[in-house]
Amino acid sequence: MIKERIRRVKRVYEKIKDEVLGDSYVRGVIKELKEKIAERRDLMIRSGMSDICRRCEKEEGGSCCGRGIEEKFDEALLFINAILGCDIPEFREEERSCLFLGKDGCKLLVPHVICINYICEKIERGVRKEDLSKLREIEGDFISLTFKLHEYIVKKWIF
Ligand code: SF4
Ligand code: SF4
Repeated sequence: MIKERIRRVKRVYEKIKDEVLGDSYVRGVIKELKEKIAERRDLMIRSGMSDICRRCEKEEGGSCCGRGIEEKFDEALLFINAILGCDIPEFREEERSCLFLGKDGCKLLVPHVICINYICEKIERGVRKEDLSKLREIEGDFISLTFKLHEYIVKKWIF
């Protein structure tokens, strides 16, 4: 169950936080990840994608962040969010929505790859092709950094 995984990750992270944050490999990847998170967020706003999603959620009856998607998260991915300083939610705001969905969108800094890859028709119609392909490029780097860190965490701290 996701709530047990979240609690375990929080417990373990509190215990080994200093070791994790002192690890030079982790620090290097986290620095690059933060840059990609900022680039992605910035482009989502500038391209109008964030507005389309906000309207979809608030005015058109709900987004694609459905209940159950949270179960796809393993402990290492939750751990990456904890390292980034994310306060991982343990309580759902909307019955029909993903546990991590808040009023202003996803509360996580590193969502699941299925969330990152998903592009719906509204986005395809409403966002310029150049912006979408730039977004794909940034997300490609974002996913590969996440994957590298995920592997490292699994090997080093055995999740
Ligand atoms: S990706 Fe599409 S379905 Fe999901 S919130 Fe945005 S507009 Fe709505
Ligand atoms: S983007 Fe965030 S809130 Fe939406 S389904 Fe993915 S993890 Fe859940």
